[in-house]
Amino acid sequence: MPIRVAIVGSGPSGFYTAEALAKSDADCEIDLIERLPAPHGLIRYGVAPDHQTTKNVARNFDKTAARDEMRFYGNVDIGTDISLDDLRGMYDAVVLAIGSPEDNKLGIPGEDKQGVIGSAAFVGWYNGHPDFVDLAPDLNSANVCVIGNGNVAVDIARLLVKTRAELSTSDITNDALDALQASSVTDVYMLGRRGPVEAKFTNVELREMGHLENCVPQIDGSIIPDGVPEEEEMSDRDRRLREKNLGTLRDFVGRDPNELEKRVHFEFYAAPREILGDDKVEGLRLERTQVVDGRAVGTGEFFEIETSLVLPAVGYRSSGLEGLPFNDDWGVAVSEDGRAGDGLYVVGWIKRGPSGVIGTNRPDGQLAAKQIIEDIAEGSKPGRAALEAALQKNGARIVNYDDWQALDAHEKANARDGAPREKEITVAAMLGVLDGA
Ligand SMILES: Cc1cc2nc3c(=O)[nH]c(=O)nc-3n(C[C@H](O)[C@H](O)[C@H](O)COP(=O)(O)OP(=O)(O)OC[C@H]3O[C@@H](n4cnc5c(N)ncnc54)[C@H](O)[C@@H]3O)c2cc1C
Repeated sequence: MPIRVAIVGSGPSGFYTAEALAKSDADCEIDLIERLPAPHGLIRYGVAPDHQTTKNVARNFDKTAARDEMRFYGNVDIGTDISLDDLRGMYDAVVLAIGSPEDNKLGIPGEDKQGVIGSAAFVGWYNGHPDFVDLAPDLNSANVCVIGNGNVAVDIARLLVKTRAELSTSDITNDALDALQASSVTDVYMLGRRGPVEAKFTNVELREMGHLENCVPQIDGSIIPDGVPEEEEMSDRDRRLREKNLGTLRDFVGRDPNELEKRVHFEFYAAPREILGDDKVEGLRLERTQVVDGRAVGTGEFFEIETSLVLPAVGYRSSGLEGLPFNDDWGVAVSEDGRAGDGLYVVGWIKRGPSGVIGTNRPDGQLAAKQIIEDIAEGSKPGRAALEAALQKNGARIVNYDDWQALDAHEKANARDGAPREKEITVAAMLGVLDGA
């Protein structure tokens, strides 16, 4: 009997696991289960809409989905439609590839005020994620504070200041595009607790901030060190990357703030301490810091930025799934290098936490496939027959990969001029397209 494997989550880690299993010599039946009608996880809903080439990797996933061993079950939520325990009863192996969809908290007073929007929600909104269609962020603020010094923070800052022309070839949703273009935003503050050496941006993303049509980068040159301190231990590759970033930041020094209509201010050594205002955000209070042994330490000097919109981009976490051993402090699954229980495996962000690029998830998938083949000599469970019977009983509308490709074609046909697609942004609308509503 084939080894029957259910993979839950169709982002990169789910697809890489499926690919590794399908390409192995083992006899496997692989069912990829996804809570949304559209596959690809953060490739569709996280990666910036104006970075389309990054999304091309999804074309390889189409090849995996087309393999005989594979079936896609979209619009099926494990934990709601079917419990994890029931799924484990149906399959020889269950691989959880469910990501880390929630924002880390800042842990400062005022964080719950209206006008504080975490990056998962904000990015999800402009990328048309069904969970965030109703976000309606109030963009009527000249200043916006983006907290964080990684690529997600840069993505958000860039999307806030790009022109309609610059976004014309992106797949940002029409609603988000209109809202951003109508916004009052003129100054975006990118706030990092530590310094330019510690910033986690990749250089391509950072450089792009110096070439925007209507926005000029601003930075105080006196805080940029001459180079990465010799005593800091890191790989040569890391050192080169950081040196490159310092060079790019130096190029930003002295740009005329009035050269263009908008500005992105790179504020380093600035730790958020309190979100100000009554119910709504009215400002952000920060403390100047210095870096001691790699950590940001407050100096006792405070300053404030007037704003009604604060967008923390300080990492992600998961809150787990019933039946999954889970470390609530870290927001990740408990596993022994991916093995989370008898016939239960984890891959990608739910295993490692939110780090790395799309390709970083590939070795996870390969390892899980290897572990499954090592652990399970032969299959003994019913697999998709049991899944389909249970879903039928629930009256679920399963979205298979042909359905997804029909939806994909519809979105492409529906795109505004020059754009790759116009996403359907609610589950009802997606199913409506498929069912001819
Ligand atoms: C804003 C942002 C921008 C990024 N930009 C880039 C970039 O430009 N380049 C790059 O290389 N990397 C980028 N990354 C990183 C990359 O997206 C991740 O490394 C990768 O997506 C993680 O893969 P994953 O499969 O673990 O999780 P995800 O991609 O999050 O996939 C998880 C999937 O599981 C599904 N799911 C969750 N719970 C359930 C459930 N209960 N039942 C069924 N399905 C479920 C979700 O709907 C989702 O489809 C970015 C990340 C973010 C957040």
